Amino acid sequence: MDLEFDRQHLWHPYTSMTNPLPVLGVTSASGCRLRLDDGRELIDGTSSWWSAIHGYSHQALVAAVQKQAAQLSHVMFGGLTHEAAIDLGKALLKLTPAGLSRVFFADSGSVAVEVAIKMAIQYWQGRGKAGKHKLLTVLGGYHGDTFAAMSVCDPNAGMHGMFGHLVAKQLFASAPRAGFDRPFCDDDIRELKTLLEREHDSIAAVIIEPILQGAGGLRFYSPDYLRALRALCDQYQVLLIADEIATGFGRTGKAFACEHAGITPDLLCLGKALTGGMLSLAATLCSDEVAAGIGDSPAGVFMHGPTFMANPLACAAASASLELFAKGDWQAQVSRIEAELKRGLDDASALPQVVDVRVLGAVGVIEMAGSIDTAFAMHAFAARGVWVRPFGRLIYVMPPYCISSAELAALTRAMVEVAALDGILKAEVTPSHG
Ligand SMILES: *Cc1c(COP(=O)(O)O)cnc(C)c1O
Repeated sequence: MDLEFDRQHLWHPYTSMTNPLPVLGVTSASGCRLRLDDGRELIDGTSSWWSAIHGYSHQALVAAVQKQAAQLSHVMFGGLTHEAAIDLGKALLKLTPAGLSRVFFADSGSVAVEVAIKMAIQYWQGRGKAGKHKLLTVLGGYHGDTFAAMSVCDPNAGMHGMFGHLVAKQLFASAPRAGFDRPFCDDDIRELKTLLEREHDSIAAVIIEPILQGAGGLRFYSPDYLRALRALCDQYQVLLIADEIATGFGRTGKAFACEHAGITPDLLCLGKALTGGMLSLAATLCSDEVAAGIGDSPAGVFMHGPTFMANPLACAAASASLELFAKGDWQAQVSRIEAELKRGLDDASALPQVVDVRVLGAVGVIEMAGSIDTAFAMHAFAARGVWVRPFGRLIYVMPPYCISSAELAALTRAMVEVAALDGILKAEVTPSHG
């Protein structure tokens, strides 16, 4: 593989072209294994960023894409429709929380978030309240890399500073404090409540990642918080956008993280695992009421329409993935993974460089006392036969649900070993964030 060409000319996520991080060449993947061009095989701990929930090269998904490609690989969605989109729409409405009835297919998670934000703003235009156009969210969130999505990412960890006034000014409350299974008290949501009380005339929607804040820090929070938030949104007439792009399709132990709290959002963003990691596809779902409001807006129509909207190949992959998911094997798999992650990562808690170890569903996190040296960590993990890619202070895994107990044990063993290495942290160890 011409890794030198890659190094000279191909941009990778969040990297420099003048001083790129090292990359490994992958030639094929199946199940939970990545095969490298130097002949090594790595156990995958990432599901390629939450997406490959059934593992790689799953026969049912490959067959669905091949069949679709031979029949209709793409056709514009303006003025035309197709079976692949219709089947997927039906499957999604069956699976997602009751009350969501309209589906917009987008091509990536960030776009699904842009779509949700535009829908919320157009909704209030249709209800004669065009002044309601701001977003309220919590610190520590991540919603994507496009401009509106960036505006609701954590302002310190995110890209607000870099792009100055081009990032819209939104409202932020502190992050939910109570952990997933910790008692919640009204104080936890007081700041958000005060913002709603004071500013609801200018707020279109609250956007939040339910239960699990993903790329913003992998923190889990109490379902009671989400229930209280739903009630406050109703009280102050503000829409609730649930961004389940990372949490959707079983990752937290429920099909959708909203189910932990038994709530339905007004808008729901899906992506990542939607196609089982086969192709890029995302969706924004909304209620009848939101769709009706948009219909009543001055534009009368929803103003968005990507070229590759509802791409048939991606829809076929997603339908095949949902069919596997609907069989329900994931439930036993995710609870087994949760138990094994808890057991396997337990030893990390005692390490001096570790400040927290946490597990929810098929997500396991070791939080370190300082920033991790990514290149060092990648090398150390690859040497142990696993693919784990830390960011910031976090060593974390969210493996494909089909991972075996032996493979998962190899993953957790490597995580604990690497967390204990001298040299894993950049510069000096900073004290716990408290
Ligand atoms: C990954 C992610 C996004 C962005 O999705 P892309 O497909 O990378 O654009 C948005 N929200 C959440 C919660 C995510 O995890």
